[in-house]
Amino acid sequence: MTDAGGEAGGSSGAVTALDGPQVELAFKWNKKGILIHVDADESVQGIKRKLEAATSVSEKRMKLLGLKARSGKPAGDADIVADLVLKPGAKLLMMGTADEEIAKLNAGAEVAPHEDGMAEIDLVDRPEVQEKLRRRIDSCSVKVLNPPRAGKKVLVLDIDYTLFDLNSSAERPEELARPFLHQFLSAAWVDYDIVIWSATSMKWVEVKMRELGVSTHPDYKLTCMLDHRAMLTVQHPKYGLFDCKPLQFLWAKFPEHYGAHNTIMMDDLRRNYVLNKQNGLVIRPFKKAHLTRATDRELLYLTAYLQKIAALDSLAGLNHRHWESYAKAEIRQLRRALEAQQQAEQQQQQQQQEGGS
Ligand SMILES: [Mg+2]
Repeated sequence: MTDAGGEAGGSSGAVTALDGPQVELAFKWNKKGILIHVDADESVQGIKRKLEAATSVSEKRMKLLGLKARSGKPAGDADIVADLVLKPGAKLLMMGTADEEIAKLNAGAEVAPHEDGMAEIDLVDRPEVQEKLRRRIDSCSVKVLNPPRAGKKVLVLDIDYTLFDLNSSAERPEELARPFLHQFLSAAWVDYDIVIWSATSMKWVEVKMRELGVSTHPDYKLTCMLDHRAMLTVQHPKYGLFDCKPLQFLWAKFPEHYGAHNTIMMDDLRRNYVLNKQNGLVIRPFKKAHLTRATDRELLYLTAYLQKIAALDSLAGLNHRHWESYAKAEIRQLRRALEAQQQAEQQQQQQQQEGGS
C-alpha cells in the first residue's frame, strides 16, 4: 500500500498494479479498510463476490460507489476491471449491511419502541436528557450550505428508506432513489428550507446526496446536512438505549428561523422522534426498490400534504398521523392525474407499436 494516495492508515480507496494482470483494490466499508486482489479480466460482479467473502455482506445488498467505466458512466456488474477508471488514491466505497447485522436488526425491531409505548413517557423533560442535549449543541457544529430564508418553514428528512433504498441492489445509485424524489424536494423548497439528517457519518451523507443528485440540484437547495454526531442516545425505561434525532439541536443552531411551530421531520423510524413527537411524520419505508418503484407514490402524495399545511401559521396543532386524510382531496387529484398520464403513455406506446408493424 505504498502508493495508497497518502491517506492515513491506507484504509480507503487505493489501487495498485501488482505483477502480472492482477489489480489490488482498497475499499472502505464501515470505517474498515478491505483489500482485495482481482484479475484484470474479472467483472465488477467478481469484485462483489470477493467483497462478500471478506465482509459477509451479501452481493445482492452491496453497493459500490466511485467505480467508473472508461465510458464515464458508473460501472455496472458486467464491466471488466481492465475497463474501469482506477485512479491511485481514489476513494472506493462499499455500502451494505452484513448478514449477522441484519439478523440482529430484525431481532431488535421486534422490541423496538412502538407508538403506544412512546406516548407514555416524555423523555425530553428529564434533566439528564437536557444536559446531554446542551453538550451536544455545544460540541457539534453545523456547516451551513445555504442560509435559512426568512419566513420559510423547515423540512427535516432522513435518507435511508425515506429517500433512498439502502438494501436493494442496483447498478446505479439513482435507481435506488425514491420515486418523485426531485419533484418532491423542488415543490417542498418553495415553502420549506430543507435539512437532511441521517444516522450515518457525514462522509456517507455527502456521498449519497451527491450520487442521488440532491446536493447539486438546480431547483432546490439544502440548508444543511446533519449526521450521527447530532443525534442523542436516550435511555427509555421500557425500550432501553437508542439513538434519536432531537430537533432541539436544529432549533438551537438556528434560533431565529426554526422552532417547534414550523418544523416537520420525516423519517421511517418512529423512535427518532422520541423527543419531538408532534413534529414527526412516520413515512412508509421505501424498500425493495426494484419491485416497489413502479407503485411507490409516498413522496408525490406527501408533496400535496406539505403544500397544504404550508399555508398554516403554525404546524404545532397538526397530528401528522392523519396526513393522508387531511390532504385527501389533493391526493385523489394527484392520483387521477398520474393515472391519466400513465394511460396516455400506454396508448401512445400502443399506437407506435401498431404504426410500426
Ligand atoms: Mg431511515
